[in-house]
Amino acid sequence: MGLLKSVAKKPPLRMGGSGATQVSSLRPVQVEKLAPCLESCPSGTDVRGWITTIAQREKAGLSEEQALEKAWRMIVDKNPFPAVMGRVCPHPCEARCNRTEKDGAVAINSLERFVGDWGLEKGLALERLETDPKPESVGVIGAGPAGLSCAYQLARRGYPVTVYEAFPAAGGMLRYGIPRYRLPGDVLDAEVRRITDLGVELKLGTAVGRDVSIEELRSRHRVLFVGIGAHRGKRMGVPGEEGEGVLTGTEFLNRANSGERVEVGPCVAVVGGGDTAIDAARVARRLGAEVSIVYRRTRAEMPAIASEVEQALEEGIQVTFLAAPVAVRREEGDGKVAALVVRRMELGEPDSSGRRRPVPVPGSEYEIPVSTVIAAISQEPEVEPVAALGATDGWFAADGGGKVADGVWAGGDDLELGLATIAIYQGRRAAEMIHASFRGLAPPQPVERPKIPAARLKLEAYEAKERAERAVLAPGERLALPDAEIDHGITREQFLAEVGRCLSCGFCFDCEKCWMYCQASCFKKVEDPGPGHYFKIKLELCDGCKKCAEECPCGYVEMA
Ligand SMILES: Cc1cc2nc3c(=O)[nH]c(=O)nc-3n(C[C@H](O)[C@H](O)[C@H](O)COP(=O)(O)OP(=O)(O)OC[C@H]3O[C@@H](n4cnc5c(N)ncnc54)[C@H](O)[C@@H]3O)c2cc1C
Repeated sequence: MGLLKSVAKKPPLRMGGSGATQVSSLRPVQVEKLAPCLESCPSGTDVRGWITTIAQREKAGLSEEQALEKAWRMIVDKNPFPAVMGRVCPHPCEARCNRTEKDGAVAINSLERFVGDWGLEKGLALERLETDPKPESVGVIGAGPAGLSCAYQLARRGYPVTVYEAFPAAGGMLRYGIPRYRLPGDVLDAEVRRITDLGVELKLGTAVGRDVSIEELRSRHRVLFVGIGAHRGKRMGVPGEEGEGVLTGTEFLNRANSGERVEVGPCVAVVGGGDTAIDAARVARRLGAEVSIVYRRTRAEMPAIASEVEQALEEGIQVTFLAAPVAVRREEGDGKVAALVVRRMELGEPDSSGRRRPVPVPGSEYEIPVSTVIAAISQEPEVEPVAALGATDGWFAADGGGKVADGVWAGGDDLELGLATIAIYQGRRAAEMIHASFRGLAPPQPVERPKIPAARLKLEAYEAKERAERAVLAPGERLALPDAEIDHGITREQFLAEVGRCLSCGFCFDCEKCWMYCQASCFKKVEDPGPGHYFKIKLELCDGCKKCAEECPCGYVEMA
């Protein structure tokens, strides 16, 4: 009950229920709601479930370690990368957390990282869901989060799975896009290894369409999952961009993440406003260059993760807003890059993305002197080698379950540029659908539950508690140690306090208010308590006074 402000002791019994005066014909019901964290988690992780499992461990008779393991298993049921995602997920769950209106969202991403790191430290293994081996072999193209998530979900159901990966190591953009200071290689390695330990075969350095043909794959496997991502950086389409000194963001990051010291010279301009642009700018800064990002809209429209933009600014990266490239000027003699010519923009009417369209200001061109230009404007799939599997217009298109055509499924960035958490979901969804189709099962459906916004909670009933913040390296240290992880997460003490900030929206957490305020004694404690399951209601005693529903802080009890 530490979560709640203290309440009065249970008042003395008054006569209620059968025989007593009926206050109303309404009766209390316990209705589990869809918490906003769960609703907004693309990978579909039961966020409230695993946090409350730890927060309420004592009530369920679990030790700290038992609760942590239970929580870890709840996360990996949907997402086999908690330590990775606890570092790189932009955590839309926090943006929707009902606690925001009180004293700040629960630090869900930091909690996930803690549980993920704890799982690695304990050497926890992923478990099989079904022990009987299945005969249908599955081929997965691409070892990014989409492909690995699909492979994991099928392997744990007993299918033989082979993943074909063009690069020398697995992880996709998690390894070749996201820089090491955000996601250390050993964390990624360890979470990938758990998937191969489950029996998934990984064929690295094997590009489908080059090292192995599609016909060969079709003959080896009953179905194929395509998770090739989107690795080809788009060009700017301006004069002067062909040749040395101009790179795409994905090319630059791929080379840097592969261990190459890319020569960028003293001044770099990065064009773009997404994650790739920010990562490229920060890596270039770590190579010792002065870096400026050129973005055609304003800060408000920047799609990059806000905290990453903040950290880039702290590291001395300049951002030129409302400017777009028009040419790359090269030196007359040696053709070296001399400047990026940009034109000023202003914001006009909103475009199809809902963001205000940048409109060029005539005659406003000027030059930014640079030695290297990195164009990080967008990416697209290198679809040609696998286009025969059903790609159209350079991308794959799938139905709601991820099916592209008979025997072909797809997910992740090759459907649409997204996030790792979306790729993980789409890999899982395809695996569940493939499993259902092989075994003649009904496709899995999400459980429909009513939503629970902050207005349905009694926020004032919860104790105010400060949000846990992560320890982060100072900007000077970050630049001095370019590969060192910037973010050091939260301590165990912070972790245990932070789980207690979860409001348990729409899910009983045993605050006892219903039991305490019910003068007819309708609420009886259950013998096997656990999150969401603490009281049963003896409706025959109820006089319909509604007090239980009025006092329930989390919106679990309502009158019907
Ligand atoms: C620089 C950058 C930073 C990002 N930062 C974040 C972030 O902080 N948080 C976040 O959630 N998301 C982030 N993203 C997005 C995220 O990385 C992607 O959405 C996600 O990795 C997509 O997963 P995927 O499995 O579809 O593709 P990928 O991760 O791209 O993996 C695809 C894999 O397929 C392989 N492949 C391609 N063609 C073939 C072939 N013919 N044969 C065999 N293998 C092949 C590739 O080598 C690659 O390993 C970032 C993306 C970039 C580019």
